[in-house]
Amino acid sequence: MKNDNKKMGIALIGLGKYATEQLAPALQETANCYLAGIVTGDSNKAAQWKRRYNLDEQCVYNYENYDNIKDNPAIDIVYVVTPNALHAEFVIRAAKAGKHVICEKPLATTTKDCDRMIEACENAGVTLSVGYRLHFEPYNQQMMRLGQTHKFGFIEHLIAKDGIEGVTGWRLDPQLAGEGGPLMDVGIYCLQAANYVYNMSPIAVTGQQDGQSVHFHLEYPGGFTAECECSYSKKMNYLHANASNGWFELEPAFGYAGIKGKTSVGSLHFEQVNQQAIEMDSIAKAILSGKSTPVPGDMGRDDVQMLLAINRALDTGQRVLLDPVIRASATTETGGAINGAWFASQDEMQH
Ligand code: NAD
Repeated sequence: MKNDNKKMGIALIGLGKYATEQLAPALQETANCYLAGIVTGDSNKAAQWKRRYNLDEQCVYNYENYDNIKDNPAIDIVYVVTPNALHAEFVIRAAKAGKHVICEKPLATTTKDCDRMIEACENAGVTLSVGYRLHFEPYNQQMMRLGQTHKFGFIEHLIAKDGIEGVTGWRLDPQLAGEGGPLMDVGIYCLQAANYVYNMSPIAVTGQQDGQSVHFHLEYPGGFTAECECSYSKKMNYLHANASNGWFELEPAFGYAGIKGKTSVGSLHFEQVNQQAIEMDSIAKAILSGKSTPVPGDMGRDDVQMLLAINRALDTGQRVLLDPVIRASATTETGGAINGAWFASQDEMQH
């Protein structure tokens, strides 16, 4: 379906911290989409959100009557923001209702669930995107370009670290969060960053767990490697690539705002953006213009497979081999990929 004038209506499901503090405010700034509905198990929250965002009663759902969303033409996309293990159920129900879906990271906690989600969306002819906000963030996009164009030569050493403190609730429950402690929640940013800087996926992984921290080592084709660390007991937010003719890095690298970058030839300067607004606008625009999503469900599935392989390496102490994955990244507003290699949309690299 091609429709360049319409704004897409997004319904958020799971009105927790991320939906409340990031996604709903971001939807007040978007150009191609807007907050059209909510799905929540909490009637008090439903009333508050309805008032705050001036939502129609018929656009407010609970988990039981959620499937009725199929009869609501105001809702084009369902954005699933529940705990990780519940993503599959709500994505599949959205697809069966004929709605496009954005699902938060990680796509699911098992590859079997990822496959079910992808299949349900394919069968329904709807788009499945993953809420990978950093694919739309200018500093991270520059890391992709610098890595993939070999601006500083071949990368000899890549480091990615992401850690947070004070984690409580479902994130500490493997049934809801997935296995591997911080791996699925914050380790995914390290894995994604290493993969998008190299524009490759690892062919083998090893790892060690140390309390609430996980160290993992990624081996890529051609002998390239990345050292990653994620944690629930220390704050870290760092991406560094040491290449044959220089280096480039971000610190903080993965936050919602305040990302800073430098290279061996100077500081990077890009606009600070509302990542969630750009993410949702870019996905809505892709759907409206009949293009493929820049952050497809397949990418989410591949990442879950790699995270589970890292977890297997933690459990067994063994090196775990992976099939190579060809990353065919789609285009974004400010950059994109041709034949799997990211390129800068501007003629010049900015420093
Ligand atoms: P949260 O705990 O604040 O919110 C989760 C919501 O799901 C709550 O409204 C809760 O009521 C609801 N829920 C429904 N069924 C539940 C159940 N059985 N147990 C617990 N809660 C249940 O969590 P959050 O931080 O908002 O994270 C939600 C999702 O968003 C996760 O998948 C997380 O990985 C993702 N997330 C992504 C980013 C990002 O930067 N992309 C940031 C934070 C969270």
